[in-house]
Amino acid sequence: MAGPDSALRIFSGIQPTGRKHLGNYIGAISRYVESQERGEGIFCIVDLHATTVAYEPAELRERLYDTTAILIAAGLDPSRCILFRQSDVPEHTELTWLLSSVTELGRLQRMHQFRDKSLAQRELVSAGLLLYPVLMAADVLLYRAHEVPVGDDQREHVELMRDVARRFNARFAGGEEMLLVPDHRIPEVGARIMDLQDPTSKMSTTSGSEAGTVYVLDEPKAIEKKIKSAVTDSGHEIKRSSDKPGVSNLIEILAVASASTPAAVEAELAQARGYGDLKAAVAAAVIGYLAPVQERYGALRADEDALEAVLADGAARAQAIAARTLADVREYMGVGRPGAAGRREPNELSSSAGSTVSR
Ligand code: ATP
Ligand code: MG
Repeated sequence: MAGPDSALRIFSGIQPTGRKHLGNYIGAISRYVESQERGEGIFCIVDLHATTVAYEPAELRERLYDTTAILIAAGLDPSRCILFRQSDVPEHTELTWLLSSVTELGRLQRMHQFRDKSLAQRELVSAGLLLYPVLMAADVLLYRAHEVPVGDDQREHVELMRDVARRFNARFAGGEEMLLVPDHRIPEVGARIMDLQDPTSKMSTTSGSEAGTVYVLDEPKAIEKKIKSAVTDSGHEIKRSSDKPGVSNLIEILAVASASTPAAVEAELAQARGYGDLKAAVAAAVIGYLAPVQERYGALRADEDALEAVLADGAARAQAIAARTLADVREYMGVGRPGAAGRREPNELSSSAGSTVSR
């Protein structure tokens, strides 16, 4: 089999908030792992995004290690991809500021995520929450990534970053594709796993119900309990339909967790006795699906020094790419000393094209 196409660059970010759940696993993490076979994967644990809603500083650090260990346990191989912490590469924040000049304020205010999450904030709706999609645009555009694997909830943000790149290119690069316009990659099945207790809302890290959220690290007994008490709908037919969000969600979960398709799941369960059979099948499949990650997680999480070493190595490799893009953006925008954009050592300021990394 041919190796991954090094010309194809794939970027995605995941927040180290709370505990990562089955929706994250199906909609994002499992697809990061798969994408390592197709191209150069760059995966970022976005701690700066996590500061846009209320959070505890000490907990953020813990969750960052949890998330790093989950990603590696799921199959990300730091020698094959770049895995790093967002705040280790300050180019992300500088590019956010620069891109904010080509981002339409009204569009940010209309973003679904901003509207939903601002309603949930009790004390403060931060400007950071509004700027979240600009930071996300910077994350991806810095790496000139072709593809962004995300869940369906992030579709709108990827559309925005495409427009930001296009506007930048039109305004500052004479229409040349200086910033690459990325494509989102949203799967047909599993792009929006719903909360088991409220199947009209997506399973979520920061909102959503405890009982309706299956965490990647939940014990088998807890997984079984949550799935068996999932809210279903009246009737007993095991078929997807818009008026049966609970059953449709369970069918999708079963399809992904058993490497099947929703249509095959419906056919297989056509003779089932009711939703009890469906739930039992879903619980067994999800327990088996998450078991390998759970087995590998403990040892990885216990060694924080090793996790830091992985993140430091990833950050150095990420920054080597990011610094070059940022240098170009500064140059095109007329920001900073001419020909000396980017982060350079003082003794490199007179050298010509390209840029080097200083940490
Ligand atoms: P929050 O709800 O606080 O935003 P989150 O659960 O969405 O947290 P993120 O770190 O923001 O977690 O998302 C990481 C990735 O997981 C994104 O690509 C997102 O689209 C995807 N994702 C999140 N929830 C789901 C879900 N319920 N189903 C499928 N994919 C999801
Ligand atoms: Mg999210």
